[in-house]
Amino acid sequence: MATTTTTARPLLAGLDPTLLELPFYEPQHADLAAQVTAWTANRAGLWRRPAPYPPSELGRLVLRDLGESGLLAFLDPDGGRADGGDLRSLCLAREALAYADDIADYAFSIQALAATPILRHGTTAQRRRHLPGMAAGEVQAAFAVSEPGAGSDLAAVTTRADADGADWILDGTKAWIANAGTADLYAVLARTGQNTGALGLSMFLVPATTPGVRVEPVDVLAPRAFAHVHLNGVRLPGDALLGRPGGGFPIAVEVLDLFRMTVGGAAVGFARRATHAALGHSRRRQIYGGRLADLGTVRATLADMEVQLTAAALLVARAAWEADRGTRPARHSATAKLYATEAAQRIVDDCVQLFGAAGLVADSVPERLYRQIRSLRIYEGASEVQRAVIADSLDARRAERSSAVFDRPA
Ligand SMILES: Cc1cc2nc3c(=O)[nH]c(=O)nc-3n(C[C@H](O)[C@H](O)[C@H](O)COP(=O)(O)OP(=O)(O)OC[C@H]3O[C@@H](n4cnc5c(N)ncnc54)[C@H](O)[C@@H]3O)c2cc1C
Repeated sequence: MATTTTTARPLLAGLDPTLLELPFYEPQHADLAAQVTAWTANRAGLWRRPAPYPPSELGRLVLRDLGESGLLAFLDPDGGRADGGDLRSLCLAREALAYADDIADYAFSIQALAATPILRHGTTAQRRRHLPGMAAGEVQAAFAVSEPGAGSDLAAVTTRADADGADWILDGTKAWIANAGTADLYAVLARTGQNTGALGLSMFLVPATTPGVRVEPVDVLAPRAFAHVHLNGVRLPGDALLGRPGGGFPIAVEVLDLFRMTVGGAAVGFARRATHAALGHSRRRQIYGGRLADLGTVRATLADMEVQLTAAALLVARAAWEADRGTRPARHSATAKLYATEAAQRIVDDCVQLFGAAGLVADSVPERLYRQIRSLRIYEGASEVQRAVIADSLDARRAERSSAVFDRPA
């Protein structure tokens, strides 16, 4: 007679181990999940409240720790430890880190975002110069493409990069830049040619200590290292150019297409934290002589939270799996970001509601999540931009399908 054995699932705080058993994932993803969740669990002191360090200091500290723990090694494949650089790993890592703490996710994700253009388009010399320090968590980087007049409409960038002999001179302002002020290196999108729009934009690597770089800090809803970066006559050597002249826009779009699904991963992490907090509170809270969790409408809210959370996690997993098997990422990435960030916003709002007044107390888990989740529907493309990307992809697919039907040889 066959015997059934049950394998104990690992305790992965912040992740759903049953999702990891789906065919989207491979054994190395379960290993990574265990590694990241153990890392966050062992650093509970860093996530306690009141926070032990100001956000920008915590960001650098966490980055260094991530580097020392090998969790950023994938940023330097030339260093021989390429594990974890696929999109499924990136999304899972963000999910687990966001569950633990906003700044942990921020430190990890911005470093990966800024390293990716160097990884994919850097020369051997550029990779050797920048990636080992970034993978070690010693060098912090930032991805500076937005401007006061160019956010959703990235092709409207006006920062100029003019050739001066073999050098480049940069002038302009980059706006809303994550890690600005604490970063050592900026990947900057600037206009090199006379062309307007997406043509004529190039990417440059700008060390933060270069004369002419000035940072203007910006305080936001969820405190973090965040600033505008002013570039005034910033002189860079010729080899600061990343990729080819005029090739900056496709680099920026490629990076954003890939990273949008990881924003979805972070949203799932925040939403899972909210779902767990809401469930725990509803079970503990005594009301009308029983538990809050036993009221019919509360049970319905908890069920809706769970369904949205699972749907979001599955869309992120699908997007990452598609990207890892070589599917063009734009549509799935936009779908995952749009749904996961919008669902996470609703889930966090429900969490606050179930806590009642206690959910509004400064620095409580619901209050913190409420502030932290908001920006995800804006950065790396607002929800409306994701809808436009998805709608465009439908047009392209419809055109492909109709031509497949009607253009068949008779
Ligand atoms: C927390 C945070 C971190 C960020 N980090 C970085 C970073 O590291 N590097 C960087 O370069 N930038 C960064 N940004 C900037 C971010 O990418 C931009 O804020 C974003 O692209 C939106 O641009 P915008 O703020 O100029 O808004 P706008 O482009 O002015 O858009 C405002 C609103 O208009 C609407 N809208 C825009 N386009 C459309 C459309 N096609 N259809 C319908 N409605 C539309 C949307 O509601 C949108 O929210 C960050 C922003 C935030 C909030």
